[in-house]
Amino acid sequence: MKAVQVVGYHRPLELTEVSEPTVTGPFDVVVRIGGAGVCRTDLHILEGQWAEKSGVTLPYTIGHENAGWVHAVGAAVTNVAEGDKVIVHPLITCGLCRACRSGDDVHCAASRFPGIDTAGGYAEYLKTSARSVVKIDDALEPSDVAALADAGLTAYHAAAKAARRLRPGDRCVVIGAGGLGHIGVQVLKALTAAEIVVVDRNPDAVKLAETIGADHGVVADGSHVAAVLDLTGGDGAETVIDFVGEGGATRDGIAMLRRAGDYHVVGYGENIDVPTIDIISTEINLIGNLVGSYNDLCELMVLAAQGKVTLHTQKYPLDRFQDAIDDLDNGRVRGRAILTP
Ligand SMILES: [Zn+2]
Ligand SMILES: [Zn+2]
Repeated sequence: MKAVQVVGYHRPLELTEVSEPTVTGPFDVVVRIGGAGVCRTDLHILEGQWAEKSGVTLPYTIGHENAGWVHAVGAAVTNVAEGDKVIVHPLITCGLCRACRSGDDVHCAASRFPGIDTAGGYAEYLKTSARSVVKIDDALEPSDVAALADAGLTAYHAAAKAARRLRPGDRCVVIGAGGLGHIGVQVLKALTAAEIVVVDRNPDAVKLAETIGADHGVVADGSHVAAVLDLTGGDGAETVIDFVGEGGATRDGIAMLRRAGDYHVVGYGENIDVPTIDIISTEINLIGNLVGSYNDLCELMVLAAQGKVTLHTQKYPLDRFQDAIDDLDNGRVRGRAILTP
């Protein structure tokens, strides 16, 4: 089959012929790929940022945001059958460790990550496990939802975690209305009756956020902290979800937070610099968020099937992978780039 592989760091990807994955274990599932999302993490992989962390042996097939049709299943697989339309949770998990038994897939003690440390989905077929496939509604197309497997799942996990604490009338600030923030706003709108305030540097992104559920848009132009405090009666918001995490976003975001509020970190890059006396005297919570669980992905697929979460995509045939990478690198992708093998 055709597959796009990492052949070296700081070198372009290459389209090559490799053997098709086959079922070898009882819980194996082979998926015929309908859509593989092109993610900024893929650019970081090519820059070598993941080389040490993943320990992957080159060459290998990249791509961790995958959806398609079940092609073959192992003898013990009962939850999907050949032909089923599925989205693939990004991790292959063991099912036996304490984290797995709590439904906390991301912290599995023995997981593999196709596209990062083993063969991924920039290919005609992908091998995963029965624990990782989520059947999707007939109305959904794999190439439309593929990017929800990682980017969407991360945004869902944070927004749904925040929503469990938000009461009607509370205020939730979303910092960053790009790919992830855009999904986060739609999820908050679907799950809460909180007032949603979106902050972004880009006035167009703020405008777009207002059309998909934000109650207030604030352009981050230097007066945005004061603007949010104004909108919240001077007290700040009960919750801030930070999809940026760099360029001073955390300083501004914490200044927008109410006493005893929750600060969700999703985007990353800078250090958070808050005096500990402020943390105890205001009793704020700083909360990390990493991808999402299998159940998070199931829930996100319900919202997608209901039309409550949508994602704009730009599609490319597999052999135009370099155009997709270049377009992403040069900011020419609206929504998410998807390869359609
Ligand atoms: Zn990704
Ligand atoms: Zn596990």
